[in-house]
Amino acid sequence: ALALASDDVARLIRWADDFPQPGVRFADLTPVFADAAAFADVTDALVAVGRDADLIAGIDARGFLLGAGVARAMRAGVLAVRKAGKLPPPVHSCSYSLEYGCATLEIPADGIDLTGRRVLVIDDVLATGGTLGATVELLEAAGAEVVSIAVVLELEALGGRGRLPDRPLTSLLKI
Ligand code: AMP
Repeated sequence: ALALASDDVARLIRWADDFPQPGVRFADLTPVFADAAAFADVTDALVAVGRDADLIAGIDARGFLLGAGVARAMRAGVLAVRKAGKLPPPVHSCSYSLEYGCATLEIPADGIDLTGRRVLVIDDVLATGGTLGATVELLEAAGAEVVSIAVVLELEALGGRGRLPDRPLTSLLKI
């Protein structure tokens, strides 16, 4: 099922006002990942979203945890989409704007052939959509096909869904 089995996931989210800056209400999913039943519930639901993906791309850093769990359950590969400066060259990179300033995401440009790979992109939270949008751009520029995007929590008020390219997008929880 695409749905969560229980309400526990929502209850376990640790909300923080004015973090990391004033005006932001931050959703910390650490307690969700640390709870055995909740982590299994979340990863099982994301596996159902993945369908026939053969590679799971997890976004730095909480997407790594989810991506690895989902990939193992699907017998798919896992790809860490890294923040700039962590990977040796050559890399593919994509820069995008945040509330202020900008950020860059990177993946290796050799060693893995992404041509024709069917990728499920995973992150913990969809906020403004900049991060997921840049990730889709990065993977597709490298030759991959993004077959689906999935997040645990969608912050609907921030309108991220409307800013993403038109790919199937699933959120397990919406607030
Ligand atoms: P976005 O604005 O969609 O590009 O989000 C940027 C990144 O920061 C994503 O990887 C989100 O996981 C994270 N993020 C942004 N806003 C929040 C928030 N309110 N709570 C938790 N994580 C957030």
